[in-house]
Amino acid sequence: MKEIVIISGKGGTGKTIIAASMAALAKNKVMGDGDVDASNLYLLLHPEIKEKHDFYAGLIPRIDLEKCTNCGRCQEVCRFEAIKTARDKTVIDLISCEGCGLCALVCPVQAIQMKENRCGEWYISETKYGPLVYARLGIAEENSGKLVTLVRQNAQAIAKKNNLELIIVDGPPGIGCPLIATLTGANLAVVVTEPTLSGIHDLGRVIKVAQHFSIKTVVIINKYDINLENSAKIEDWCRKDNIPIIGKIHFDNIITEALVKGMPVVEYSDNTVTKEIKDIWQKIKTIVE
Ligand code: SF4
Ligand code: SF4
Repeated sequence: MKEIVIISGKGGTGKTIIAASMAALAKNKVMGDGDVDASNLYLLLHPEIKEKHDFYAGLIPRIDLEKCTNCGRCQEVCRFEAIKTARDKTVIDLISCEGCGLCALVCPVQAIQMKENRCGEWYISETKYGPLVYARLGIAEENSGKLVTLVRQNAQAIAKKNNLELIIVDGPPGIGCPLIATLTGANLAVVVTEPTLSGIHDLGRVIKVAQHFSIKTVVIINKYDINLENSAKIEDWCRKDNIPIIGKIHFDNIITEALVKGMPVVEYSDNTVTKEIKDIWQKIKTIVE
C-alpha cells in the first residue's frame, strides 16, 4: 500500500484540481481530503456519505449557573481573560478559552465542569471514483492536525480492508501542523506550485518540511506559461536541489470550466492540459510502483 500526498505551500495553486484528476485516473485507491479547514475535494467528486462521525478534541468549560455564586475566583485565575461578567452572570468566551481547566479547579462550589469539545465532523463516503474520507472542522476550531491524522488513518484502514493499493491525499495548504500530519509516513509528496513570487517562496518552505521528514518529493508547475521567467527560476532551483519536476501544466480556461461544472478536468475535456495531467499521473505511478 502506497500513500501519495498532494500539497502546496499556499492555497490557490491548483492542488485540489490535480487531486481530483488523480482520483479519476488512479485505479484501486482510496481518496482522503486532508484540507480539513477548507475541505473542497468533495465538490468535484460528489460523494455519497456512508458514515458520519463527530470529531472531539480538547476540553471546554461549562458553567452551571444554578450553582455559580458569581464569586469571581475563576475570572481572577484565567490567564486568557476568557471569563467575564455579563448581566450579573459569569460567562465564558469559548473563542478566548484555551481549555486549561484552571477555572474548574479553583471554583469553590464545583460549578464548572470540563466537557469534551465537539469541533468538527468527519465522513466516510463513496464516489464513482472509489471511497473518499473527508472532514469539516468547525469555524475557529483548532486541532486540525489531529483531524488530518484521523482522515488518513481511516483512509488507510479502508485501503487495507478492501485490498486497495493506493491512498491519495489532497493535503492542506501552508506549512503548519496539518501539513506535518499529512506528510509523516507518506511515500511521495507531490508539490503543486505556480510561477509567482509567492509560489516560489512557499515552494521552498514546503519542500524543506518534506525533506525534514525524508519524504520523497516531486514538483508540478501549474499555469507555468503565465510567467516563463519565474517557471525557469523554479526549474533551476529544483535542479540544484535534485527535486524532479514531473510536469508543467499550461494555463487554460478549461480548468475553470471543469470547476464550474464540478468535474475533474480530465473527465471534462480531452485537450493539451488533460494530456499533461495524464502524463504526470503516469510518472507518479512509475515513481511509487
Ligand atoms: S479553561 Fe482555562 S482558559 Fe478556559 S476559561 Fe477556564 S481558566 Fe480560562
Ligand atoms: S469560581 Fe465558580 S462560583 Fe465563582 S464565579 Fe466562577 S463559576 Fe461561579
